[in-house]
Amino acid sequence: METLKKNEVHTGKVIDLTHEGHGVVKIDRYPVFVPNALIEEEIEYKLIKVKKNFAIGKLLEVKNKSKDRVEPPCVYYYKCGGCQLQHMTYQAQLNMKKEQVVNLFHRKGPFEDTPIQPTLGMEQPWRYRNKSQIPVGKDKDNKAIMGFYRQRSHDIIDMDSCLIQDEQHQNIMNYVKHWFNELNMSIYDEKNKRGLMRHLVIRTGYHTDEIMVIFVTNGKKFKNANVLVQKLISEFPNITSIKQNINDTHSNVIMGPQSVTLYGKDKIVDELSEVTFNISDQSFYQINSAQTEKLYQKAIDYAQLTGEEIVLDTYCGIGTIGLYMAPQAKHVYGVEVVPSAIKDAQENATKNQLNNTTFECGKAEDVILEWKAQGIKPDVVMVDPPRKGCDETFIKTLLKLNPKRIVYISCNPSTQQRDAQLLSDNYHLVEITPVDMFPQTTHIETVALFERKEN
Ligand code: SAH
Repeated sequence: METLKKNEVHTGKVIDLTHEGHGVVKIDRYPVFVPNALIEEEIEYKLIKVKKNFAIGKLLEVKNKSKDRVEPPCVYYYKCGGCQLQHMTYQAQLNMKKEQVVNLFHRKGPFEDTPIQPTLGMEQPWRYRNKSQIPVGKDKDNKAIMGFYRQRSHDIIDMDSCLIQDEQHQNIMNYVKHWFNELNMSIYDEKNKRGLMRHLVIRTGYHTDEIMVIFVTNGKKFKNANVLVQKLISEFPNITSIKQNINDTHSNVIMGPQSVTLYGKDKIVDELSEVTFNISDQSFYQINSAQTEKLYQKAIDYAQLTGEEIVLDTYCGIGTIGLYMAPQAKHVYGVEVVPSAIKDAQENATKNQLNNTTFECGKAEDVILEWKAQGIKPDVVMVDPPRKGCDETFIKTLLKLNPKRIVYISCNPSTQQRDAQLLSDNYHLVEITPVDMFPQTTHIETVALFERKEN
């Protein structure tokens, strides 16, 4: 709106929340998005960005606090880009996530009447991350800093605790930071692309408590690697693997393709519901293990297996879902594009003596076409793609395979809604359950059941 100016202070009532958790205030019909404001609150805010169709406001004062408002427990919350919803009660976060799925699916046919279940939440929605990827940098006195990126930037905020990480990770992070300074470790500088240490990645097996520590370095030569290894293993006895990953690219991707083992095993082990998994440093593994068990259980309930079914586990990662289901199916075929993940899946099948499984490496859209040509006729297809959803050719082949049920897990309900529309002539969308895999953040995960329309 032309009459509005940057830095002006306004007051107004919050009428809605965006999918980023920002409050929406209207000046006439012009929307202003205000982070950290909640529905029903009367707020004072300053315009910090004024665009043609919307503005961004900074919250200055809340005149009447919403019953959903809480004091964020983390001291870094208002700076760090990691969490967005700590100022809301957990129940309000769960309700908001369900509402977003309702808005997405009920807004447009043919899903107006699809039941959306309440979001499955965590009992203790903290300390859930089994993997931490911590950037390393230097402050102006040349001391090592480690923490997280400031909102919408690549500036590192030095921090010594993070309430959504496994507590052991922050202890390891603080210990490593101390030794980086003692040893005068060379640290990577994003601006001039020089220096060695880029990221510290830590992974924990939820049920085994095995820890893997990965130093991501710009180049191979790693002075003092042995000293760090000895220090770490004497201080943290459950570290079972220490690796160096070499990333000498200038991109934002955290890990490079090559890793070497500096100490211990080259993989960590975890268990989910009596199945054991080997996990390589590069393979995808669900971040929140407690919630993964709920997510997979819901997916299995939806699959309604009797022991007679041919199941496809598409976008299978290290085979977790398929291996979970194999004891209740006739045969499981898994497909995944990352070679190390498929190697893990094959090893995991052997390790658990689940011989009724076949895992293939390739793009899901290509491999299911080959399976179709081989005459494989699935009864149930599990679909769990990355954020961009499925390739259109994948959906076309899926329709030809014509399984009785499709169980679609998604980390981005808007692409799931798009794909659901492509299925909707032949499949009835029976129900969707949101599952909170990332409490305190705006990420939403859903699992949906589709059933073939019989005519
Ligand atoms: N089902 C697994 C992994 C889900 S994450 C689990 O629950 O752990 C999505 C996976 O899809 C990732 O492992 C990613 O590598 C894989 N992927 C991405 N694009 C793909 C494609 N076109 N074909 C097959 N797999 C793909």
